[in-house]
Amino acid sequence: MIVVKTIKEVREIVKGWRKEGATIGFVPTMGYLHEGHQSLIKAACENDKVVVSIFVNPMQFGPTEDLATYPRDLEHDKEKCSQAGADLIFAPEPSEMYHDNFQSYVDMNLLTQELCGLSRPCHFRGVCTVVAKLFNIVMPDKAYFGQKDAQQLAIIKRMVDDLNMDIEIVGCPIIREEDGLAKSSRNTYLDPQERKAALVLSKAVKLAEKLILGGEKNCETIVSAMKELVNSEPLAKIDYIKIVSLDTIQQIPQITDNCLVALAVYIGKTRLIDNYFYQS
Ligand code: AMP
Repeated sequence: MIVVKTIKEVREIVKGWRKEGATIGFVPTMGYLHEGHQSLIKAACENDKVVVSIFVNPMQFGPTEDLATYPRDLEHDKEKCSQAGADLIFAPEPSEMYHDNFQSYVDMNLLTQELCGLSRPCHFRGVCTVVAKLFNIVMPDKAYFGQKDAQQLAIIKRMVDDLNMDIEIVGCPIIREEDGLAKSSRNTYLDPQERKAALVLSKAVKLAEKLILGGEKNCETIVSAMKELVNSEPLAKIDYIKIVSLDTIQQIPQITDNCLVALAVYIGKTRLIDNYFYQS
């Protein structure tokens, strides 16, 4: 496995692979990798070569968010990538990705305006911009994203379609801890008491799943039941719990095919997300 820090090196290596006729799978991440990221890398091994980017993208963090404290450990990440079958890690410095005169952004309407877009107004502009840049650098055949960030996945699919990027986007299932908590690099922020309290997110997701599969169609009823459950945990503070159409990321009154039950909850100071995707 090769580790590089410059765009030039990535391009040279990928060009060489392409000359040999290899297909390229790509997994963009912010590092501090866990089994969730590894599941994407393993899925990407259906290609001949797998590139993983590790970049804590300043552009997708708000001024009061955790950019400075976001966990970073390249040695740990190298181990996780090589275990999962990656061929190349691209781990640039911010100055490599954003030069001093940087002026161009990828923006999107509608899909970015609900859920995480409400509490993190510039987040998806940062995500779309960096992912578009990474796609232009790596030029993969396929790119792999987790269903854990379901709104992000919908946005990336839309961006690729809208901007005619010749890349197949593959969504991969949420990987959870044994007790149900969705794996996240931010779980490391939780102290033991908060870690227990964080289970309320997956419990709320399970409750929504049970209600929907039991035939409940009224979104308000489902959301109220979830809110009651989350509010019963003293360390939890709801950012949002909503049911939206996956196509538009706009709220819907009744359960339909292709809908997303999504929640963001603060456990102490840590903001965690989880979701349940329903397809009849
Ligand atoms: P991040 O490093 O948090 O930006 O995540 C990089 C990619 O890994 C994104 O596509 C995430 O959706 C995905 N990911 C993060 N956590 C999980 C998880 N628990 N299960 C599946 N995919 C995940």
